[in-house]
Amino acid sequence: MSSTRPQQLTVLGATGSIGVSTLDVVSRHPHRFTAFALTASRQWEKLHAQCLRFAPRYAVMGDEASAGLLRQALKDAGSRTEVLCGEQALVDVASHADVDAVMAAIVGAAGLAPTLAAARTGKKVLLANKEALVLSGQLFIDAVEKAGATLLPIDSEHNAVFQSLPGDFRRNPGSHGVRRVLLTASGGPFRETPLSQLEQVTPEQACAHPNWVMGRKISVDSATMMNKGLEVIEAHWLFGVPAERIEVVVHPQSVIHSMVDYEDGSVLAQLGNPDMRTPIAHALAWPDRIDSGVKALDLFEVARMTFERPDFSRFPCLALAYEALRAGGAAAAVLNAANEEAVGAFLERRIGFLRIPEVIAACMERAGGLAVDSLESVLAADACAREYARKEIRLRQAA
Ligand code: NAD
Ligand code: MG
Repeated sequence: MSSTRPQQLTVLGATGSIGVSTLDVVSRHPHRFTAFALTASRQWEKLHAQCLRFAPRYAVMGDEASAGLLRQALKDAGSRTEVLCGEQALVDVASHADVDAVMAAIVGAAGLAPTLAAARTGKKVLLANKEALVLSGQLFIDAVEKAGATLLPIDSEHNAVFQSLPGDFRRNPGSHGVRRVLLTASGGPFRETPLSQLEQVTPEQACAHPNWVMGRKISVDSATMMNKGLEVIEAHWLFGVPAERIEVVVHPQSVIHSMVDYEDGSVLAQLGNPDMRTPIAHALAWPDRIDSGVKALDLFEVARMTFERPDFSRFPCLALAYEALRAGGAAAAVLNAANEEAVGAFLERRIGFLRIPEVIAACMERAGGLAVDSLESVLAADACAREYARKEIRLRQAA
């Protein structure tokens, strides 16, 4: 779809790991993409630099204090970017009539409302914010279909599956002979750590991922393998495949980004260096292909690729996510909210690493009866689960 005018792009979470990689790709193709709006929670200085470089029409900050600082700094620099603030402003810049595409790269449930707004207004939605889809599931997919939005996965695994499926898989689900979706997982930094040491691991160790440089929340999720659990749920909604046909394959080299196994025995995969600019460039330009800045894959350098079964006893979060997907209803929303709270508490050193799955399991027992059929009810289930989670965290807090 090479258009004559540049695509107007809103980047939700522009200052994060995905946001920065997105702007790196955008900067390589100034004739294809223009920044319409850039948003950040509190990092106003980083957003300031991005605004001077990409001259968006709007910048959105999470709170009034940082918005004020950004507004003044941009004014002093002679910038014409207008600074807005708060949740409604995020929704507005994601659904504005002039916007073509929205990169949804806010971390966690905070990204749901603007991402859903982009879907409801028929945008091209580039989905990095997996929590938004895990939380809202059918509601999100219904919004995409009703508005005729284009949903393109940024998560490297889902982008790989998307590339390995036929182009019309959404129009004719079930008729493509897909036997299984195989999601690859690196296994994170603790794949081989003696179990007796996991009790003591620190946020620094959990955030030191062997192959990918990412935000802190997703790094901890990779260490618990909740990230893969959330991705199993994400794959279910994106590709319409049931839990029992989504398999996790531990592949520590992170070169195969995921695979689709077909009934005739063919397995299609997407390979590449572990650099998020590849799926970002793929989705930004889809169905064209553009340079992402990622160096060519050198298979001689890779030399060996290995595969292992996931260890569900070492990574109970992965089992909990499958359980939530099978349970349906609000279970995935509760799993996600409890995980966000538990990971936050771990990063603040209030609870140990092994308490994360305990908190989530305790919250999931109480998920029954919560509705998830509207944005309001999803947010209510999220809030309710966070309340349970905070109680469970307090019970486990180190004295
Ligand atoms: P990050 O922590 O580096 O960045 C998060 C961004 O969201 C920042 O710009 C921050 O200012 C903004 N933000 C945070 N809380 C906010 C709030 N309450 N309201 C508004 N804005 C808020 O995270 P990341 O690693 O870039 O990940 C972003 C999303 O992409 C996550 O959902 C993650 O799971 C997903 N993802 C990331 C990677 C990766 O390689 N980093 C890979 C696949 C998927
Ligand atoms: Mg991923």
